[in-house]
Amino acid sequence: MSDVKTLSQPVPPGGTVGIIGGGQLGRMLALAAARLGLKAAIYNDENDAPAFQVTSLQLAAPYDDQGALADFADMCDVITFEFENLPADAIARLARLKPVRPGRRALEITQDRFSEKSFVQSLGLTTAPFEAVSSAAEAAKAFATIQGPAILKTRRLGYDGKGQAKVTNAADCVAAFERFKQAPSILEGFVDFAFEASVVAARGADGGFAAYDPPENIHEHHILRRSIVPGRLSRAEADEAKSIAKAIAEALDYVGVLAVELFVGKDGALIVNEIAPRVHNSGHWTIEACACSQFEQHIRAVAGWPLGDPARHADAVMENIIGAEAHAWESLARSGALHLYGKREARLGRKMGHLTRLKPLTK
Ligand code: AMP
Repeated sequence: MSDVKTLSQPVPPGGTVGIIGGGQLGRMLALAAARLGLKAAIYNDENDAPAFQVTSLQLAAPYDDQGALADFADMCDVITFEFENLPADAIARLARLKPVRPGRRALEITQDRFSEKSFVQSLGLTTAPFEAVSSAAEAAKAFATIQGPAILKTRRLGYDGKGQAKVTNAADCVAAFERFKQAPSILEGFVDFAFEASVVAARGADGGFAAYDPPENIHEHHILRRSIVPGRLSRAEADEAKSIAKAIAEALDYVGVLAVELFVGKDGALIVNEIAPRVHNSGHWTIEACACSQFEQHIRAVAGWPLGDPARHADAVMENIIGAEAHAWESLARSGALHLYGKREARLGRKMGHLTRLKPLTK
């Protein structure tokens, strides 16, 4: 007997989608579920989760609390995630109790930068050159192999530039590895890209595929500042980005929304940086600019419903509201579609909300 539950029928209206993680992504997923007549249950490791404010089905417990995970599974018809770093045995536990979408394999591959980049290359797609680093000697050797400026990244649990260091010589590289307390890492060649982009796409339980137009993304201090669609990608590059997402989704037998972060080279080459097995900050503009938002699309996919139409009916610029910028909510409310996430403390670098401005469709 398989130790993994699968979903044979769609979850009907009135059913419950469980979401692991109660941040803004969980909150926007829960709101989208409500619109479809589905309930959302949220599991979060802290009490004051932004998503708890929008649904009464909630459980606060550590992510490795096996008893609480089982209680949560009892509340749900299907379980999904707003973040990918749940411990592997917690994922396994949930998967034995209820259908989990996307599946374990997608989460496990994308939790580890080395396995993620190896997987991407195995599909014939391009990544920055990279080497595994698990000792000081390997750090020096990896720098000699990569040659030129590089970035040391911890294999696990890095986001928004955390667990990353730019290095320009072998001694730097060893020192950065020591600063990371010798956590298993990769050394990646520095890509002198023209700009960054991403593609947000969905695969349904029936194998159907739907991709949104890829935005250009601008980062500041390693945090997404704004997403612009259409950005500088040509039509051919946009189509190629969508086929990259399709190849990845199919190879993972993926169900749900995923995002692929890309570097666009000065020669137009698309280089895969990272896969996010979830809805993504660079897809927030789809709430206003598309017939079916990334959040609704993810709920549809994991609940076994038909995918919605990803067509874009407007140009859009999505701007994150970070830290103290949220204090200006009154003037922000006048200048576009304002989303605030209900976070009490406007800490430095914290994503407090976002603002989307629409313009008539140009291409
Ligand atoms: P990541 O956490 O891997 O998504 O990296 C965060 C940001 O750091 C990216 O969005 C890029 O702006 C920058 N970055 C990461 N890896 C590289 C690379 N190999 N070359 C140049 N810039 C990079």
